Amino acid sequence: MAGSSEVKPKADAHAPSYYAATAKGLEAHPPLSGDASADVCIIGGGYTGLSAALHLAERGRSVRLIEANRLGWGASGRNGGQLHSGQRRDQSTLEHWLGEAEAQRLFALGEEAKALVKSLIRQHSIDCDWRDGLIHAVHKPRYLADIKTEISLLRDRYQVSDITELSRDEIAARLGTSVYFGGWREQSAGHLHPLNYALGLARAAKQAGAILHEGTRAIRLTQGAKPQVVTESGTLTAQTVILACNGYLHGLDADTEARVMPLHNFVLATEPLGERAAKLIPGREAAGDSRFVVYYWRLSADNRLIFGGGETYGPRFPSDIKGFVRNHMLKIYPQLSDIKIDYGWGGTLAVTMKRLPYMRRLRPGLYTSGGYSGQGVGTATFAGKLLAEAICGEQDRFDIFSRLPAPPFPGGRLLRHPTMALAMMWYALRDRL
Ligand SMILES: Cc1cc2nc3c(=O)[nH]c(=O)nc-3n(C[C@H](O)[C@H](O)[C@H](O)COP(=O)(O)OP(=O)(O)OC[C@H]3O[C@@H](n4cnc5c(N)ncnc54)[C@H](O)[C@@H]3O)c2cc1C
Repeated sequence: MAGSSEVKPKADAHAPSYYAATAKGLEAHPPLSGDASADVCIIGGGYTGLSAALHLAERGRSVRLIEANRLGWGASGRNGGQLHSGQRRDQSTLEHWLGEAEAQRLFALGEEAKALVKSLIRQHSIDCDWRDGLIHAVHKPRYLADIKTEISLLRDRYQVSDITELSRDEIAARLGTSVYFGGWREQSAGHLHPLNYALGLARAAKQAGAILHEGTRAIRLTQGAKPQVVTESGTLTAQTVILACNGYLHGLDADTEARVMPLHNFVLATEPLGERAAKLIPGREAAGDSRFVVYYWRLSADNRLIFGGGETYGPRFPSDIKGFVRNHMLKIYPQLSDIKIDYGWGGTLAVTMKRLPYMRRLRPGLYTSGGYSGQGVGTATFAGKLLAEAICGEQDRFDIFSRLPAPPFPGGRLLRHPTMALAMMWYALRDRL
């Protein structure tokens, strides 16, 4: 099958997505030219890097951020736009793995991440279509008992008060489909236009004094008292370097790559649905389901259905992304078979074995953060803030994440993809049983 490889992206325009077509205030930032220095050099212009740049500049550090493509070109400009609560793993699992106290700390930080995104939007007037409300839909009756346990835990031990459990009929009414068996709704989670959010963060970082370069790929890091980042058009010398490349790291750091694995995920946007939109999601919440390879969707500000689903693990994207995702969408919304698909695009996220973020100080002067496992809108933004804290000598909160377990993927860099693909296919098969 012919496909378009994204393994080694060239300095490139944004993916041909609905988001790129509706981007607000796209600004060009010149590539690095010649040699320069800064207190902190950040590699990668997604939420992690941009938020770190903003928070470091606000703390008076000189910052240079280099992005190989355009700011927000990676997962941050292509994702489902859903802002979740807590961590990627539910609290029952975290308590089981880490004990109640650590699970409580992680939950509180997850809540802070969600609040941070909303406060950045307000504070910097980021025009990114923010809407409250997120629905979790259960696609197998056997998962209902677990959901009830988790809701009780969140209410009783975590004092979460904005969760409403939904019966089968209620979820059908709220999501315009009868395929789900129940679920729950959260008011404080929600959704946004991810690329416009990233571009807003970039503007805020620039206004705070960070220098941003597009079309500037780091090709090598050198160690030493002051690390150097070598690019095709110049060299940056800094006290501290942050690797904020997530699923696009490509050989810059073997330690991170052993633990953070790229996956491709795909999204479509239909033509505007007009009055039919209100029949699908009358409350205009975001929605996601309990599949291992999760389906997620929401309405855009101009009443399109934005639907994400389907993953691939090899180097290539499917040649017909619209058709690939449409097949998944029709399982949930067969009534949309007459609707035209205007956009289809793919992006690369990164997962860890435990589905918990990988944040580390790799050695003095070198930090890495990524592997948010599909929950990066909040977590990557927050990681940027924690990186800024840690670099300014406040390690405590960063260390709650840096001590999380992060085993390497089996099979090493070469064999992990086939090994994990087999494991993922097994879990995806279980979704259908
Ligand atoms: C299709 C899809 C749907 C998703 N849906 C959701 C969702 O609904 N909710 C949610 O919370 N999360 C979601 N995610 C995950 C979320 O988008 C990511 O976790 C988050 O955007 C990661 O941000 P980041 O800044 O770490 O990485 P990225 O946004 O990927 O940015 C990394 C950047 O680094 C740059 N880079 C890489 N190497 C170099 C180099 N050598 N030199 C210079 N620059 C370099 C890349 O060009 C890239 O722009 C989704 C992801 C995808 C792909």
